[in-house]
Amino acid sequence: MSQLPSIVTNTWAQTSIDCAPDALIMVAPDLSLVWANEAAEQLLGWPRGERLQRSIVDLLHPEDLTLAGLAFGTVQDKEMGAPLELRVATPRGWVLVEIVGRWAKHLGEHGMLVASLRDLTQRRRWDLATRDDEQLRRLVDHADSVTILVGVDGCVMSHSPALTRQLGHDPEVVQGGAVADLVVAHDRAALTALLDGMLSRHSDGMVHRQTIELGLISTRRPDPVPYELTIVDLHSDPIVGGFVITAHDLSRLRVAQRALEHQALHDELTDLPNRRMLMRQLQTWLGEGRCVALAFLDIDRFKPVNDLFGHEAGDTVLRALADRLLDGAARFRGAIVARHGGDEFVVATCVDEDTAPMSAALLAGLLGDALRLPIRLPVGPLQLSASVGAATSLELNDAEALIAAADAQMYVHKRASRGAPTLDSTVDTRRELAEELVGAVARGEIVVYYQPIVDLRTREIEGVEALVRWQHPKRGLLAPAAFLSIAQDIGLDREIDLFVLETACRAVAERIRDSDQHLKLTVNISADHLADVDVPTTVARVLDKSGLPAHLLWLEITEHAVLQQPSHGPDTTVLAAFDKLNRLGVRLAIDDFGTGFSSLASLVSYPINMVKIDRSFVEGVESEQRSAAMVEALLALSHRLDITAVAEGVEREEQVDELIELGCRLGQGFLLGRPSPQLPGALVRSPLGPNSSGRYFPGSTKAS
Ligand code: C2E
Ligand code: CA
Ligand code: CA
Repeated sequence: MSQLPSIVTNTWAQTSIDCAPDALIMVAPDLSLVWANEAAEQLLGWPRGERLQRSIVDLLHPEDLTLAGLAFGTVQDKEMGAPLELRVATPRGWVLVEIVGRWAKHLGEHGMLVASLRDLTQRRRWDLATRDDEQLRRLVDHADSVTILVGVDGCVMSHSPALTRQLGHDPEVVQGGAVADLVVAHDRAALTALLDGMLSRHSDGMVHRQTIELGLISTRRPDPVPYELTIVDLHSDPIVGGFVITAHDLSRLRVAQRALEHQALHDELTDLPNRRMLMRQLQTWLGEGRCVALAFLDIDRFKPVNDLFGHEAGDTVLRALADRLLDGAARFRGAIVARHGGDEFVVATCVDEDTAPMSAALLAGLLGDALRLPIRLPVGPLQLSASVGAATSLELNDAEALIAAADAQMYVHKRASRGAPTLDSTVDTRRELAEELVGAVARGEIVVYYQPIVDLRTREIEGVEALVRWQHPKRGLLAPAAFLSIAQDIGLDREIDLFVLETACRAVAERIRDSDQHLKLTVNISADHLADVDVPTTVARVLDKSGLPAHLLWLEITEHAVLQQPSHGPDTTVLAAFDKLNRLGVRLAIDDFGTGFSSLASLVSYPINMVKIDRSFVEGVESEQRSAAMVEALLALSHRLDITAVAEGVEREEQVDELIELGCRLGQGFLLGRPSPQLPGALVRSPLGPNSSGRYFPGSTKAS
């Protein structure tokens, strides 16, 4: 118990003052503390006698000094000061007290301030919990951010329901536990250090605020959830006495950020890294002093792909190429495959210095290979080529320079290969093919393949169809689809048809002479030729020259070429030509029957001897009712009209069974024999046909 100044001498009075529940202090006009009762000593935590005579400025919270100063000034003129709420330093930290002072004039020389201090903490807490704050509570409960009150010991004092809502934690478990337990292990130390730092640094009692981004543990997902924590240090606030942490979920923001970043660094069409990302990666590698090998690819004649087939096709090509490059680059660990621009791609990877040139060559090979196989487009397979260049960072330690070097080498290659054939079907290629087709017959590049027409029951060969091929010196064996329309464009189709007719007639006549195998021969003829007055004459001459009996030759004309105007009755020119040929003894066949406009009835209008049922009907003959019905009707009619029917494109034994069932005697197709440069023997033994040498190289547009 402190001794009252001598003026207070009555022991009763002294005892009652000491026992008073309120803290009482006396302050001299120089702000020094001259006396305090026991309650004050307890509140302020002073060992006896200490602090007396010290300035009360040390007692008060810095932020409250101004207010206190003002009050101190005014109280001297009044009897009783107004109650004031101030924070005072205690061993528990800052405590909010209500101070009521009164100036006692008679004490000392100039009077003294007698003040009572009442601890408001409890009352305040109570107020907060009860009074106006149901609304505030709702606000916190339903806020989108998580609020956590953490004590100076790092344990959770309380938290808002959002913590459970968003992260799934059991409130019971969280309450009282370390706040660090909510944080992923990786970020725990950072949070603890931050809280400790705030505690030790901010003893000035000011409100401090810090922000940290870290991962919080969720009971619902395996991955940490990114949160931004704003920590307000209220450890010296008597009401809070800790930290208020407000946590915002950053997931959505992060997703958006990542998408934006991805967008900025990737190509939209192929999703490959774009030029920016490529440069960034190269700069990183070079900055780390690593050796880089890089290859640069540019598609040859890409523009015509867009022009001829549309931008969809162009996009398909780029995407397909991107996939292939990714597949190929998988062999080089850590390689980056980037779309450098339009139709330019770059693959780069870190390599050993010793083997850098070899790695660059390997990369270049990889890029060159990417277009080896055609790319499937709705219009058919498209064979493209590309020019490739490569460079290493052995001499060039700059990303731009490295790309420029590979680009330059690519350009040299492109120029060197200009004129060299590429297997695409762009306008340029058509032009090249047209030029090369001139003289192809004379040079012996046009050859005839034969595909057997077979008796479905006995598998005996009844005849052959002559099919033209172009044995191209550089592109390999080309299918009719790759060059017949070009031949037509430049008027070489007659020459080619005549060559096939002559060659096939000679070969079959020779076979008949040498054995007693009586092969029929079917030869395709371009529709336009039918109107030629000299076709029958030419055919007669060829038959004569080869010695092939006329009745063994069948001319195949595609259905839609012949029977174009079924509603207007038979085409008189065609009819006349057919007549002449018939009179020669030559037979006529309708090719691809069912694909044009004609009805079955049109068969009656023309002197037709054979129909070749199109592959599209044969394809579904054993599975689709419509196809089967069509084939059946056609067979019935051809029987009545004495027209021979041949099923085209027979590929499976099931089709053979069904065709026999429907009454079809003859068939043609890969199952029964592939086109071959030699005439077949008498019998087809292997279900796969005599050989498969009729296969095309990848460059041709139609497989056979
Ligand atoms: P086309 O007259 O319908 O000939 C049949 C085509 O189907 C041939 O293709 C043949 O290889 C193919 N083929 C045969 N069996 C099967 C099979 O089981 N499955 C499949 N998927 N295909 C089969 P090719 O040789 O490419 O001939 C294409 C077309 O070119 C011919 O169709 C014909 O219209 C025309 N053509 C062929 N040679 C000549 C010719 O010398 N002159 C004229 N003007 N056109 C010809
Ligand atoms: Ca044909
Ligand atoms: Ca056909």
